[in-house]
Amino acid sequence: MKEEDLLHAETFRDRVSSVSETGRRNWIYALKPSGKWTNYRKYLAWLYLAVFFIMPFIKVNGMPFMMINLPEGKFILFSKIFWPQDFFIFAIGMITFIIFIVLFTVIYGRLFCGWTCPQTVFMEFVFRPIEWLVEGSPSQQKKLNAGEWNSGKIIRKTIKHGLYLLISFVIAHTFLAYILGIDELVKIIREPLADHVGLLSGLVIFTLLFYAVFAFVRDIVCTTICPYGRLQSVMFDKDTMQIAYDYKRGEPRGKFKKNVVRTEGDCVSCLKCVQVCPTGIDIRDGVQMECVGCTACIDACDEVMDALHFERGLIRYASENEISTGKPARFNTRMKAYTGLLGVLLVAMVFLVATRKTVDTYISRVKGQLYQEVEGGKISNLFDAKIINKTREEIPLTLKLEGMDGTIKLVGNQQITLKKEAISEVTFFLEIPKDQIKKRSSTLRIGVYQGDEKIQTVKTKFLGPFK
Ligand code: SF4
Ligand code: SF4
Repeated sequence: MKEEDLLHAETFRDRVSSVSETGRRNWIYALKPSGKWTNYRKYLAWLYLAVFFIMPFIKVNGMPFMMINLPEGKFILFSKIFWPQDFFIFAIGMITFIIFIVLFTVIYGRLFCGWTCPQTVFMEFVFRPIEWLVEGSPSQQKKLNAGEWNSGKIIRKTIKHGLYLLISFVIAHTFLAYILGIDELVKIIREPLADHVGLLSGLVIFTLLFYAVFAFVRDIVCTTICPYGRLQSVMFDKDTMQIAYDYKRGEPRGKFKKNVVRTEGDCVSCLKCVQVCPTGIDIRDGVQMECVGCTACIDACDEVMDALHFERGLIRYASENEISTGKPARFNTRMKAYTGLLGVLLVAMVFLVATRKTVDTYISRVKGQLYQEVEGGKISNLFDAKIINKTREEIPLTLKLEGMDGTIKLVGNQQITLKKEAISEVTFFLEIPKDQIKKRSSTLRIGVYQGDEKIQTVKTKFLGPFK
């Protein structure tokens, strides 16, 4: 190994790539990648962006397809309303999501970062292309930044930052549409600004936040702020697939010389893989926390290999074991265990969502009330029912005592009509013939009927005299 390579091998882990030797910010001027993997990621990114911006407009039966109304604690997913009472479904959903990410990381490394993370998608396929368009190639950008503030620089910087602010403003509005619903958002936009000062302030803060992240913070989000990136080391093992440099094939490195028989490995030290890296690292140093799995170095190296008529894949998706042993990747016990767990959680998720009730009833005796003996030799208890209607329609309901004789007498109303998307409260007396009450506290079943269809059975306690 040459002296400079030795020095680099000893020092490259001393600091993150975004920090220079003097401790200042190392601004990354990444070359524009092109090739098979970049194209796949680009198409996928366009799909994500289309889904993200179009989703708030999609409605099924007048209901938004997705809405996350945090202030009111109301969530709509696949046009179904989920209430705080359905929180356990969200909890299981979150656990499933986290295990899904962990499982994916164990098997496929940072596939999530490179292919689906919103930070990567927006940075690499929205904001960076604007920069290339307005300020030119990385070397032109570098020159522009180092140069004095003349009219050309002012115009370019104004256009770029103006577009960044505009897109950040649209992103902030889109997030708001997910929270309030598109109809409410359009209504607010049409009303005087003075009526929504609080909301407007929030929008401005989020716009500036997105702008700051994509205009200035950039790769630091991935290398320093994001906890997921920092957790990689505990999730990776030697069978984890990642973007890796095949050191067996590439080393020792050596410049390519025409008409000279090559005695070195396939790496020609062209540094193309470093120049395209959005986090400024050298993948040939091995797995690094800063690598977001963006595939740019694969495409850059493949292009070099093609030009030299070498086999592609000097940098490729591979595990450490695959490269060191030359054997194909294997599905180890940890991967199998995670897959099994994920399967169980997914089945549980589907079951919970599919069997989720649209009307949820809670019945309990009115606190502090004992039983009463009433006409006809009956015992009466007073009950409260809280009934949640999670649909967007009014629902007429009836309550019936199941499995024994008895009468339900509603207080005040003659019938129960649930208001849409609301909790209705009903108070009723339940009268049961004395001879049927054998204990101080008996468990009863009350059926909740929509027309002739029983939609729920609720258990409750009925208080009687001591026997
Ligand atoms: S692009 Fe390929 S050949 Fe060039 S330095 Fe990187 S690994 Fe070596
Ligand atoms: S090392 Fe390669 S895959 Fe990792 S961030 Fe840099 S260019 Fe992307």
